[in-house]
Amino acid sequence: MSVLPIVTVGDPVLRQRAQAVSADELASPGFQAFVDDLITTMRAAGGAGLAANQVADLRRVAVIEVGANHPRYPYKPAIPLTVIINPSIEPIDSETAMINEGCLSVPDLRGEAERSVSVRVDYLDRAGVPHSEIRRGLTAGTFQHEVDHLNGVMFLDRVRDPTTFMTWEQFETHHKDAFVARARALVARVGS
Ligand code: ZN
Repeated sequence: MSVLPIVTVGDPVLRQRAQAVSADELASPGFQAFVDDLITTMRAAGGAGLAANQVADLRRVAVIEVGANHPRYPYKPAIPLTVIINPSIEPIDSETAMINEGCLSVPDLRGEAERSVSVRVDYLDRAGVPHSEIRRGLTAGTFQHEVDHLNGVMFLDRVRDPTTFMTWEQFETHHKDAFVARARALVARVGS
């Protein structure tokens, strides 16, 4: 298993649509090794998720994992390791929330991205088993962030108010307490 280099905003691969993985490819040792590399890379970088585009690959797969007290996102509800292959995502109602996000491909920048509060996510796991799940709140935001990557979309595109861009240091100093209170209230209301 290898830690792969993560590309940053401006690399055209982040603006391309990742291509569906066939059943044969999904089962292949090469693809399975790539999934392991994505997981290893996400964990090494301390990310909550990582999409193939971010390691300059256009296979339609992303990984998500949020442990308790995540180093970058300690306020996020835990998400067990989830491999999403050929995912699609649909809002299940019209409610949105502004979620303060960062991205491993956008070093030292955060901003308030508009996200659907409740979504249905359809995907295959790494064994090729289909899943259809409802995700809510910050967890819904995490899934939207990763599926966006696979569609060539970045969180920057979801920021409605550019005055909310901030460095991680300024988030800690000026914005974290208010955001965490807002995020906790959202999760308490809608779950994850
Ligand atoms: Zn990202």
